[in-house]
Amino acid sequence: MATEPRGNARYPEGVSMSSYEHLGNGPAATGSSSGWRMRAGLIARCLVCDYYMILDPDTYDTCACGAMNKDPGAGRFGSRLGDDRIEIYRHRP
Ligand SMILES: [Zn+2]
Repeated sequence: MATEPRGNARYPEGVSMSSYEHLGNGPAATGSSSGWRMRAGLIARCLVCDYYMILDPDTYDTCACGAMNKDPGAGRFGSRLGDDRIEIYRHRP
């Protein structure tokens, strides 16, 4: 992974993005009116570095450029560049 050129998309292991659909950007795209809704069927993409992150509520993750972070211990998720810099994808039913 570390040898990939900067800017290449990074997908979660074992995930085929063709089975996901783009819902929109920011927390509202996750189906919540009060912040991010975290569940494993959702994937967030950092628009800066093209990193795709599964939004399960249990694991820590950070994107390749460091802007987008998920910290279950602190109950936090987001991008320091703003929520609209995160694209939300949902696994097709
Ligand atoms: Zn990033």
